[in-house]
Amino acid sequence: MAGPASPVAFEALRSEALVCVRCPLSRGRTQVVFGVGDPHAQLMFVGEGPGREEDLAGEPFVGRSGRLLDRLMQEELSMDRSRCYIANVVKCRPPENRDPLPEEIEACRPYLESQIELIDPRVVVTLGNFAARLLLDTAQGIKALRGRAYPFRGVHLVPTYHPAFALRSGGQVVAEMRADLIRAKRLLAVVPAGASGAPPELGRG
Ligand code: URA
Repeated sequence: MAGPASPVAFEALRSEALVCVRCPLSRGRTQVVFGVGDPHAQLMFVGEGPGREEDLAGEPFVGRSGRLLDRLMQEELSMDRSRCYIANVVKCRPPENRDPLPEEIEACRPYLESQIELIDPRVVVTLGNFAARLLLDTAQGIKALRGRAYPFRGVHLVPTYHPAFALRSGGQVVAEMRADLIRAKRLLAVVPAGASGAPPELGRG
């Protein structure tokens, strides 16, 4: 991976995404939902795609599922969204909250790939089927995938449920999401090879 984000490169990527017309989702959007948080974060979340509230706000996970994500992040990782980075597989809202289509995911993929490369997180947590399948290049579902970490481009990927699924499913799924976040926290706490003896901070910035 390339190392901590160059602010110029990250801003250039964002500016490009904000006027993107690479797929038909651009025609129905109010705003491109590029991402939110610290571009130098050690922890990155990847969701599926904006819903209605995100499309209006221009920020990922601001609706009910976002509130659950914020709560679990606070309770299990003692952090808020300003200390990690949150992005989605697709940056524009699919109509009627349908699943993103394979061609939409492919069209948007370079933005996510560049975000990951520039942010260079130490741990990526995927939320739900779409992000896990895309980044792990697998057809397996989240139930089979979660419960462990995967090597991912020299760092760690921790798949967990989408918070909207956790909201629908309740106790057991939320408990498993908590366990996945604890797994991510433990991986963040491991001092990377070559680092000084100072205890690791959760964000670099
Ligand atoms: N669901 C997602 O996957 N992403 C969002 O930003 C909001 C809801």
